[in-house]
Amino acid sequence: MIEKVLVANRGEIALRVMRTCSALGIRTVAVYSDEDANSLHVKKASESYHIGEAAPAKSYLNQERILEVITSSGADAVHPGYGFLSENDDFAALCERNGVTFIGPPASSMELCGDKMKCKAALTKAGVPTVPGSPGLVKDADEAASIAGDIGYPVMLKSVYGGGGRGIRIVTNEQELRKAYESVTGESIAAVGKSAILVEKFLEKTRHIEYQMARDSQGNSVHIFERECSIQRRNQKLIEQTPSPVVDAETRERVGRLVCDAADAVGYGNLGTAEFLRADSGEFYFIEINARLQVEHPITEMVSGLDLVKLQLDIANGEPIPFKQSDLAMNGYAIECRINAEDTFLDFAPSTGPVPEVELPAGPGVRCDTYLYPGCTVSPFYDSLMAKLVTWGQTFDESRTRMLSALGDFYVQGVETSIPLYRTILASDEYRRGELSTDFLKRHGMIDRLAADIRRERGEKADAAAAAALLHAESARAGAAGGTC
Ligand code: ADP
Ligand code: ADP
Ligand code: MG
Repeated sequence: MIEKVLVANRGEIALRVMRTCSALGIRTVAVYSDEDANSLHVKKASESYHIGEAAPAKSYLNQERILEVITSSGADAVHPGYGFLSENDDFAALCERNGVTFIGPPASSMELCGDKMKCKAALTKAGVPTVPGSPGLVKDADEAASIAGDIGYPVMLKSVYGGGGRGIRIVTNEQELRKAYESVTGESIAAVGKSAILVEKFLEKTRHIEYQMARDSQGNSVHIFERECSIQRRNQKLIEQTPSPVVDAETRERVGRLVCDAADAVGYGNLGTAEFLRADSGEFYFIEINARLQVEHPITEMVSGLDLVKLQLDIANGEPIPFKQSDLAMNGYAIECRINAEDTFLDFAPSTGPVPEVELPAGPGVRCDTYLYPGCTVSPFYDSLMAKLVTWGQTFDESRTRMLSALGDFYVQGVETSIPLYRTILASDEYRRGELSTDFLKRHGMIDRLAADIRRERGEKADAAAAAALLHAESARAGAAGGTC
């Protein structure tokens, strides 16, 4: 049984994992870089170890150093969080070889899921519909152009090793394709030291709908419903919700069964996510499996009542999943907003620096997973995600209005945030009516509408200030004239 977990991560997800460990009486070991000496995850852990410089390659990605700390601290398991080493099959294998429980899938299954092409091929064989595209990797730009000619533009070029919206380009003609081929190759080599590219039909006006899945070492698989993550920027998620407004009970079960087949087909272990694009026609097309805990897992926790990190620990301990598919029921509606430190008007550029003051929202149905505290710093070295604000409601509109109110209560001094954008989106009729697509921001001119909202708010503030000044002047005159208060 796992008794001591090293959390090979930082920020909100390190804290999230430690919370479950602490509730279960499991000791925790934090690792941290120079940049994170004062971070909350370091204080929260039972023990903390410094592992290197700020740059991820010199700390959170340094497998040997992390293994050293696992050994010297006596941790029997490692939780990788998301990002960093979470989908690195070499690290999972290194842990396996050293008798350390890696809280995630076996290295062999992770390797298969980490290669978008191999994974698509395995799932096509298992009868899961995948996005039409190249049957295998393309060897050069010429072959990519020839395949694009066959399936028809626009197409998407994808690095098979991509993630977090990186290594993806939409191209509408051959000239663009050749240019994009070079940049995707360069980006992938810079990120992971190798490149392999596939070509996919670009599906227009689609929704991103994914399924939480779990499979134990006895081979039982379940799905824990869907999440709709269509509100994105640069192919990265901003707002997620469950249930999806377009998934009814029949579809939930039908696609859910496919997801369990997919988990079996790749010999999956532990928790994972199967991502799909849903075409306007209602067809679901598989895109990839994320072999780890997903950023947006809290919305699934809100509607299922499960602690997904606890489920990860149970499965890692070799226990069977402690419920059957038919035991699960979806309760209510949940929404997550990823509170990023970024400037919406500067093409979402990161905004970093000290945060002298923070006020966090609370209240019924409100959950906030964050590393923020007054006096902390948002570092330029890591992800821009500062907090995940999650609300639950008995109805969609209760969850939505709770989110709007919580966004209003959320105050972060010192950096730009995505909060104003989310207020505009959550208040829009299109969002309220569930008219979602991965191009939601552009399609509905959300940035311009945000600018208009800000101008209006400033105008009202300016008007209020002018009215206050006038009142003040009037009462001063009345005072001078000997009037009473
Ligand atoms: P999720 O659906 O869980 O948000 P993402 O693909 O957005 O999944 O990945 C979560 C986080 O992991 C991202 O915000 C990013 O920081 C990190 N990440 C994922 N893939 C990569 C990658 N290939 N290179 C660097 N960071 C990555
Ligand atoms: P990543 O590994 O970066 O998460 P994904 O393959 O999951 O990459 O795609 C990320 C996002 O890019 C999707 O949520 C979707 O918005 C968009 N996307 C990916 N593939 C396609 C496609 N074939 N057609 C249209 N949009 C796509
Ligand atoms: Mg993805």
